Amino acid sequence: MKIHKDMYVSDLPGIGKKTAALFNRLGIFTAYDALNYFPFRYEDYRSQVNIDDLQEGEIVTICGIVELIANRRSFKTKKIITECLVKDETGTVRVMWFNQPFLSKNLQPGSKVFLSGKVTRDMLGLVLVSPAYEKFIQNHDQLHTSRLIPVYASVADLTQKTIRTVVNYVIQLADEAIDWVPEKIIHEHNLVSLNFALKKIHFPESEIEMQKSIRRLKFDELLLIQLKAEKGRNDRLLAQAIPLEFFQEKIKKFVASLPFALTKTQKVSTWEILQDISHTSAMNRLLSGDVGSGKTVVAAVAVYSAFLNNAQVAIMVPTEILARQHFESLRSVLAQYGVRVGLFTRNQRCSTENVKKNLHNEDGEDTHTPVDNDKISKVKMLQKIQNHEVDVVVGTQAFLSEHVEFKNLGLVIVDEQHRFGVEQRKIIKAKGKEAHFLSMTATPIPRSLALMIYGDLDVSVISELPPGRKPVITRLVEPHKRDKAYQFIRDLVSQGRQVFVVCPLIEQATDASTAMTKNTVTQSLFSTIEKKTVMDEFKKLSQKIFPSLRVGYLHGKMRSEEKEEIMHKFSVHEIDILVSTSVIEVGVNIPNAAVMMIEGAERFGLAQLHQFRGRVGRSGFQSYCLLFTEVFSAPVQERLHFFEHCLDGFKLAEKDLEIRGPGEVYGTEQSGMMQLRLAKLSDFDLIKKARTAARALITDILDYPLVLEKIKKWDEAIHLE
Ligand code: ADP
Ligand code: MG
Repeated sequence: MKIHKDMYVSDLPGIGKKTAALFNRLGIFTAYDALNYFPFRYEDYRSQVNIDDLQEGEIVTICGIVELIANRRSFKTKKIITECLVKDETGTVRVMWFNQPFLSKNLQPGSKVFLSGKVTRDMLGLVLVSPAYEKFIQNHDQLHTSRLIPVYASVADLTQKTIRTVVNYVIQLADEAIDWVPEKIIHEHNLVSLNFALKKIHFPESEIEMQKSIRRLKFDELLLIQLKAEKGRNDRLLAQAIPLEFFQEKIKKFVASLPFALTKTQKVSTWEILQDISHTSAMNRLLSGDVGSGKTVVAAVAVYSAFLNNAQVAIMVPTEILARQHFESLRSVLAQYGVRVGLFTRNQRCSTENVKKNLHNEDGEDTHTPVDNDKISKVKMLQKIQNHEVDVVVGTQAFLSEHVEFKNLGLVIVDEQHRFGVEQRKIIKAKGKEAHFLSMTATPIPRSLALMIYGDLDVSVISELPPGRKPVITRLVEPHKRDKAYQFIRDLVSQGRQVFVVCPLIEQATDASTAMTKNTVTQSLFSTIEKKTVMDEFKKLSQKIFPSLRVGYLHGKMRSEEKEEIMHKFSVHEIDILVSTSVIEVGVNIPNAAVMMIEGAERFGLAQLHQFRGRVGRSGFQSYCLLFTEVFSAPVQERLHFFEHCLDGFKLAEKDLEIRGPGEVYGTEQSGMMQLRLAKLSDFDLIKKARTAARALITDILDYPLVLEKIKKWDEAIHLE
């Protein structure tokens, strides 16, 4: 029967409406879909043996004649058992199936069959239990037995046999497939033809054929992603921005005036950024560096460069504490050069009406609420931004408010960019239409992943920590050593050090990044629970454990002035021990803190734990990270022990990725585009090859209509999802 690629599966012989509906659930509607539905593993039924040679435990195929076959009902389980005797020249073996009574009609005595499965033994001797079976047909290849058998992801009621039968119907389409990958790339990367791959991925004759086919189809998948990334990069080069001239002499002077010398990779990153923003095509660069590697100062140099060009800078950060901290550290290095630094946070934010009202109301009084300095300063800040009376503004999500209008926005910087959702990032970008864009992240991104999700970004990496830092000593503390740990902390505090205590998130698997995108109701519930955890821990530590030390606390239910006050007290060492939720995770810088104590450590991902740990060890003091957990299951213990011994953020991120998958670690939006069917992030080599190929193709992509067509189709498919 001639199959057409657009034919519905329901039009294939023997496929009724019901079965077709099951195929639909797998995303298979047409013959073409079925051809492109790839197996996820194979069963090796190639070893064909004589019945006389059967050995218990082996997976084999036998070929013989059905001698006897009959159904009976098990008196214990009431299941129907089909019992059968099969014979070849060398002997006879028993075969059993359960609940498939039709078999006794299908396989009548005298018929020649192939049976594939595992040889087991029961009281009566060797027996094949529920083997795959297939009648011998002259001049026909076996589909379900005696070869490498593809196994497909399926739904209940849709058997492997049915899927395989359908794939076999449509396999002829493989011969018609037009190879969209240009000849030269196929050659260069040693790929098999598309026709071959599509056919042999389903029905390989050997492992080699199987591997070559898989490799080819993975490559196709990766090439498409990389082509799209390259296209994005090209489009981006067309995006315009105000060029911010690189005044080398002045920049050098500024850098020399910093309280420390930049590390090598800080210098390189700074240079890359300053080069980029001096062009008329908009920069889109990710600055990636482990916690404490010193990204802020690199951003400060970029801010200064923008200032020299009379351009404004917006800096977006995920928390108010961090906004305040950046505001202060920028002011400390930039103010002396006349750079006006502003702060803009959520608590300054009010609704549209309020803004309008306030704008009309000269002195900014809000009639609904008593005097609120923040609101007044918000209105003033908005005006200052609009009139370019402020050069750089640090802010939280409040920035997304549509009322923020910059007069001369030249550069947008997003710190801890992974903490913002895709939508938020889009809005930020849209705000800075003519601006250069720099995002910073401390979540180390494994290289393979970076190539995939940031294919269209340029990346600068700060790969070393500032000199003189001592590696943080990390210990998973056993419960019976808790008192010892407290004593240890007491000793360190008496030596003048400070301590962070992080309380676990109660809600399961809620990483703060997902919490951010949650609706406000859950968020508020969430912070209520957080508050309780923090207060309980605070009470315990301040009253029972460390009554003579100064203990403070921080949680999401506190007003921002309260939070700021606490952070201030901690930074000037009026507090020894700070109990907090994971809010301190992001960016906070207290060099005198030498202990990070984490309760409920099992609740955090490795990358997140690493962020916590990065809060200490920021000076020459030996610092410690103490983990506590009440969970003793092997995976948890293993994970935490791994963390104990691994200080490398990249390795931890990779491990995290392995354990939790990209969705959990990097947010579903980012990994959403990675709906890879065959390729894996560990296919690093192939990812690189695909990237090389994409680069080679993109320059004269118009010469490859088939490639263009393929990208277009792929795009459409993604948008439909
Ligand atoms: P992160 O990359 O995590 O944002 P920060 O920018 O907060 O790191 O920097 C961490 C600390 O290191 C800060 O106290 C900062 O002043 C200091 N720092 C940054 N660069 C250097 C350097 N080159 N030498 C010494 N200290 C540095
Ligand atoms: Mg930072």
